[in-house]
Parts: sequence; structure tokens; C-alpha cells
Amino acid sequence: MLTIVKQALVLVKPEVSSVGTGWIAARGSLAQVGRYVPGKPMEEVQRELGLSHVIKLASNENAYGCSPKAVSAVAEEMARAALYPESSPPALAEKLSAKLGVREDRLIFGNGSDEIIGLLTRAYLEPGDEVVMADPTFTRYEQNVAIEGGVSVKVPCRDGVHDLDAMLGAVTTRTKLVFVCNPNNPTGTMVGAEALRRFIERVPTNVMVVVDEAYYEYVTSEDYLQTIPMLDAHPNLVVLRTFSKIYGLAGLRIGYAVVHPDVASVLHKVRGPFNTNRLAQVAALASLDDTEFVAMCREQNARERDRVSQALADLGLRVYPSQTNFLLFEVPGSGAAIAERLLRQGVIVRAGEGLGAPGTVRVSLGRPEENDAFLRALTHSLQ
Ligand SMILES: *Cc1c(COP(=O)(O)O)cnc(C)c1O
Repeated sequence: MLTIVKQALVLVKPEVSSVGTGWIAARGSLAQVGRYVPGKPMEEVQRELGLSHVIKLASNENAYGCSPKAVSAVAEEMARAALYPESSPPALAEKLSAKLGVREDRLIFGNGSDEIIGLLTRAYLEPGDEVVMADPTFTRYEQNVAIEGGVSVKVPCRDGVHDLDAMLGAVTTRTKLVFVCNPNNPTGTMVGAEALRRFIERVPTNVMVVVDEAYYEYVTSEDYLQTIPMLDAHPNLVVLRTFSKIYGLAGLRIGYAVVHPDVASVLHKVRGPFNTNRLAQVAALASLDDTEFVAMCREQNARERDRVSQALADLGLRVYPSQTNFLLFEVPGSGAAIAERLLRQGVIVRAGEGLGAPGTVRVSLGRPEENDAFLRALTHSLQ
């Protein structure tokens, strides 16, 4: 009884926090946290600038859409929209476990792999715990760490590539998690297979190594490490994948992690009971069958990646070598200024400033004609 009263008193004390509404204090850790700023939606740009045709190359979405198999699966599943989905999708887990060669109890699904990043930080971080990550890397790691009151230790990339030796050196007794984004967003680069293998082998087992492989299916380099076969020997390894990128289901929100079964049990405790919805579940299942669609996207993307990289280099711009469906390149002046000029011509990209990479622009690879339009608009913007 006494404890309850004490807690209530603490809660209403105005000096407890400066954030929130001012009359109910939000958690102090949130003072450090900004809202995620996504790429501008097409409709908004069209409306604001009065443009009839807008090309969005800002969020690394799949320019070729998604599999028609997924579209029909979703249409059919709508008839069951009134019913809650299965809490953990069994058919999807079964198919994926066979495809990946892992037991089903190693799989956990999320409302996008983004949700799983949040589940990990929520489940494993105590305030003050350190999390090692690259700089720049996916900004959602840092945001989720901050929400839990953790401390992000950011290790500068070398030429846009994770400096794994320096990251290993940054691991201390206070470190709980390490994020390796491979390939990395926003630089598009990947780390070599041997370097990453050695890193995973050297990180102490009481530190979780989260390898975010959101762009796994776009990688064409032979020097890319297959991490899933390492899971048996490394219970502290977590592999994140998503259906948002090459499978083209970003709007449905579904991704997954491959983890030690004990880690899965922990994450199941903190997730929402129906964190993946019916439509996403059936779309993901159908997408796994359409290997032709995935192969087409991978090939088209690789071809355009080479072509646009070369065109940017021909414009005298430094382009980071990409294994993804986007390119990061350096521009004279600020990335924001170039992004604004592109926007006025109806091409939406991301300025590097918002991604931790000032003086750069990140462009998602579109269809050939969209990439041509981007290159024309960029040439104009540089003049
Ligand atoms: C896109 C992306 C994700 C995942 O997105 P979801 O849509 O939430 O699955 C995760 N990590 C990185 C680095 C990404 O770029």
C-alpha cells in the first residue's frame, strides 16, 4: 500500500521529466528521442509542388512491386479479415524453416524487422547498457536504444564500410548488443565474409551480435558471409531479414529474425499477441514460392546498380560500392540542397544529413526509366 502511494507521488512531481505534455511526464529517456522521419510520400509532394508526375526513390522500396501470387493471396484472405490472425504464423514458419534449414523454434516474426529491433532492445537493455554500432548506419538502432535508456557507441565506418576491428575494440563489460548492418544502410556497402566471421567468433558470448540482413537477397558479391549456418555455434547471434525489400511487401509490414530458441522465447514475451497480420502472413507465404519474381528483381537491380553507379561516377561524383537496391553518393555542398532541387523536379530522394551521412544523397534504384529521369534531374541540379 505504502509503495503504491510513493509511486503515485513520484509520478506527479513536475520535475521528474521535462518531456511529454507537461502535465503527465513521459519517460525521461524520451527526451533524447526524435520521431523517425521517413522519405516523403509521393502524394504529399504532388500536392505541395503541383507536380503531375512524381518518382519516389527514397525508401528503398521494390520498384517492381510484389509477386502477383502475393496479391491474390491477400485478396482471398480479406474474406477472413474479421478473425484475428494466428499469433505465430505456422505455415510461414514451416516453409521458411525448410528454406533456411533451421528449426521453427529459431524463427520469430515481427511487424517489419523494424519491430524486432525494438523487441530486442526492449527485452535486453537495462538503462545505461551500451550498444555498439557503425556510424553511419540504420538510424532505428540508435532510436530504439535511446528509448530504453541505453547508450549508443557509434564507431565510424571506413570508406562507408563497418570497421569491425574498431567495433570489437569498442566492446566493453557494459556492452549488451552489437548491430552489424550487412549490407549497410545508408552506405550500401558490405563487410567481407572472413572479417565478419572473425568478428562473430571474437565477440564475447554474453554480447548479442545482431546482423541486419534487410538487403540479403540483393547481394551479388561472392564475398558475402552466410550467417545462418553459424547460429548453432554462436547462440549470441541474431539474424534479421525482411519481406519489405526484395519481396516488395513494405506496405504490409512483416519481417523475421533467426535466433537461438531461448532468445525467441524471450522475444515472444515482449511482442504483441498479433504482431503480424493475416494479410502480411499470407502474402509472405505466397512470396516465398515466387522465386522467379525474386530472381528477376535481383538481376534487374544489379544491372541498374552498375549502370547508375557508372553514370554517377561519370558526373564526377563519388559513389559507395553498393550491394543493395540503393546508392549513396557524395555531392558538392549539402545533400539537403541537392535533394531539394531534385524534389522540385519531381524526384524524391533522401538527403544524407538525415541519415548520418552529411554531404551525400541516397537514391533508391528504380526501374530503368525512373533511374534515367533521376539522372537527368540530378545533372540539372548540379549545374
Ligand atoms: C528497410 C530496412 C529494415 C526493415 O524494414 P521493415 O520494413 O521494418 O522490415 C531493417 N533494416 C534496415 C537496415 C533496413 O534498411
